[in-house]
Amino acid sequence: MRKGLERDLIKRLEDISGEKHVLTDEESLDKYSRDETMGLQAFPDVVVKVGSSGEVSKILRLAGEYSIPVTPRGLGTGLSGGCLPAQGGIVVSMERMNQVLDIDQENLMAVTEPAVITAELHRAVEEQGLFYPPDPASLESCSIGGNVAEGSGGPRAVRYGTTKDYVCGLEAVLPTGEVINTGNKVVKDVTGYNLTQLLTGSEGTLAILTRIILRLIPKPRMKVDLLAPFDDLSAAAKTVSALLQEKIVPTAIEFMDHPAIELAERYLKRKVVFDTASAHLLIELDGNRKEDFEKAMDVVEEVCKRFGAWDLLVAEPKDAQNRLWEARRCIFEAANRIGGLYETMDVVVPRSRIAELVRRAEAIGETFQLQPLCVGHAGDGNVHVLYFNGERMEKEKWSQEIKKATHSLYRCTLEMGGKITAEHGIGLTRKPYLSLDFSETQIDLLRGIKKVFDPRGILNPGKIFD
Ligand SMILES: Cc1cc2nc3c(=O)[nH]c(=O)nc-3n(C[C@H](O)[C@H](O)[C@H](O)COP(=O)(O)OP(=O)(O)OC[C@H]3O[C@@H](n4cnc5c(N)ncnc54)[C@H](O)[C@@H]3O)c2cc1C
Repeated sequence: MRKGLERDLIKRLEDISGEKHVLTDEESLDKYSRDETMGLQAFPDVVVKVGSSGEVSKILRLAGEYSIPVTPRGLGTGLSGGCLPAQGGIVVSMERMNQVLDIDQENLMAVTEPAVITAELHRAVEEQGLFYPPDPASLESCSIGGNVAEGSGGPRAVRYGTTKDYVCGLEAVLPTGEVINTGNKVVKDVTGYNLTQLLTGSEGTLAILTRIILRLIPKPRMKVDLLAPFDDLSAAAKTVSALLQEKIVPTAIEFMDHPAIELAERYLKRKVVFDTASAHLLIELDGNRKEDFEKAMDVVEEVCKRFGAWDLLVAEPKDAQNRLWEARRCIFEAANRIGGLYETMDVVVPRSRIAELVRRAEAIGETFQLQPLCVGHAGDGNVHVLYFNGERMEKEKWSQEIKKATHSLYRCTLEMGGKITAEHGIGLTRKPYLSLDFSETQIDLLRGIKKVFDPRGILNPGKIFD
């Protein structure tokens, strides 16, 4: 930004949101230049912590006038660089808009501002006997707005689906500054094209979301977590398909391989149960009727043992359940804090092909001398493959090898009928690979949609496609 322009723009932003909510100091710009994506950084020129949709609208109009990029940011836990201002400009941080506005018992709906922390919404609705199922592993630190913008998933997707299955309506500020309301507190709506679903998963490139209407369900009365250790990774993966064929649908089926178990132990500085296993399956069941619940537990035990699980730990008290989940949920944080250089993949294949995917991911790691770690939402076919620079290659060599490995893994995922990202989004990191899956015609359609929403190309430019 030019100096004179900068002063003028900052003054006008301060008039909109108040001086103390407009940040230009080095420390703040540094803080807002990152999310949780390893090794990625892009600096904004200015950060505005907005307090209302009216402010967002004025900022977008102003940005249009100056032709300056605007990047929306939730709570910065993204894993594809989506909230980083790739071309500088204004970061619009939603963090002050963090209120649950309404929990509507009669219509089973919640209305929230975008920066409500996902786990806080869980607690608020559960106090009233209701349930909001989507539960990204980052639930204590990410926002509902970020979840909607990314179309986030989470362990409970096996039984309950992902964020998009719960979004019924949105207040959204378009890049032109106009405010629209899509959907409403209704569970059925076929009025025109489904703009609610188009904006869900649009990664902050089509509009800034300022109010969200979410469907709720009654909270299941009972819940149990089961941990099954296996000596053989592929047997654990085959157990997942067998469980689903038994026509019981667990709430979650999570998978961790041995490197993941080891990393969790090092990070948490405590022993993880069954830590010599080659793989863990963490299975959660919930329900309302005791008989159905017990029957499902028997089926899970029988199937796990049939495929070689050498034990089954049953965790019923909340504390015991939290300890099991802590090990699974900490993996990305552990990788970021103590894992060294690594890259994360978020591939998904038809659930019956999980075992094959894990085998092929390991083989690719070996080919490129990378150390693989596999964790994931096995019940959805979604495996996070983390490739670490175990051989401590020079940075340049590492960046060449990881690109080749990523390319190979994505090719093999697509060959298996899968997709290159299940829940983390394209953002910046997967942009170079979109054309492996989408034809030029499909990418042109995306470009056309973007142009209709954002004719000047000011909202979150440089993401998903060029
Ligand atoms: C330890 C860890 C575990 C994770 N586990 C999971 C998981 O299980 N499942 C999963 O899906 N993801 C997971 N993630 C990724 C991440 O938490 C999700 O993508 C989350 O939804 C991001 O929310 P956020 O508020 O941090 O958004 P940000 O990172 O701030 O932004 C993400 C994207 O959303 C856009 N955005 C944010 N708010 C708005 C808004 N109000 N309007 C328009 N656009 C907006 C941004 O521009 C950006 O493109 C994990 C991340 C970490 C660090």
